[in-house]
Amino acid sequence: MKILVAIKRVVDYNVKVRVKSDGTGVDVANVKMSMNPFDEIAVEEAVRMKEQGFASEVVAVSCGEAQCQEVLRTAMAIGADRGVLVETADELQPLAVAKLLRALVDKEQPQLVILGKQAIDGDFNQTGQMLAALAGLPQATFASRVTFSEVNGQMRATVAREIDGGAETLSLKLPAVVTTDLRLNEPRYVTLPNIMKAKKKPLEITRPQDLGVDVTPRLKTLKVSEPPRRSAGVLVPDAKALVEKLKSEAKVL
Ligand code: AMP
Repeated sequence: MKILVAIKRVVDYNVKVRVKSDGTGVDVANVKMSMNPFDEIAVEEAVRMKEQGFASEVVAVSCGEAQCQEVLRTAMAIGADRGVLVETADELQPLAVAKLLRALVDKEQPQLVILGKQAIDGDFNQTGQMLAALAGLPQATFASRVTFSEVNGQMRATVAREIDGGAETLSLKLPAVVTTDLRLNEPRYVTLPNIMKAKKKPLEITRPQDLGVDVTPRLKTLKVSEPPRRSAGVLVPDAKALVEKLKSEAKVL
């Protein structure tokens, strides 16, 4: 079974981002970039599936600028077998990424595509769902556990997902699309020997036009602004004073 894992290069989650002075977006100049945390979980899960004998090959895919090669090398250091970069300097919105991934699904014919549930930069939470729709594949989003079984010679995935009211379990016919939630696993640390080994793994570079995909943005960002500053809090001496303030000032009791 071949697994395709989609990984996005985003501003590192430890960085406090700043809005550009002209309000057109977030300033990413000289900012530390890393693999989207949910995608690290996706790579880890795919590599575990290979280690457990369910998968034969793990292919990491990233769409974006040439620097996305860095996150592909990280994915290969975690254990992915090879990488594919769809290189473009154009801004990529979720629909464009879903179309690119769909073209790669047609080409690579994976049995499973794993994506993060959302990228922490745009917080869209759309790409996996759009890919499933475009490729006509079953989907299970926000996976917290994935297992496999064979029913009448057909491989199926059983996916536990966390929902508002508790947990839901879905059974999917493969090929399918799965998106990862935080609790699926804890990604391993990449070791130096594996970083060195990853440098020798194959990394293919292709372009949207090679895949016949038009990536023209459909959404226009009108303005990006900082959230309003929070006013300073007030220290209260004890619980009685707090209850009094909640009653008389906040009027929530
Ligand atoms: P989003 O819909 O933007 O929140 O992203 C959801 C998931 O889609 C991410 O966690 C990635 O797995 C995948 N994804 C989004 N953008 C890209 C990209 N440019 N390259 C590769 N994968 C991506």
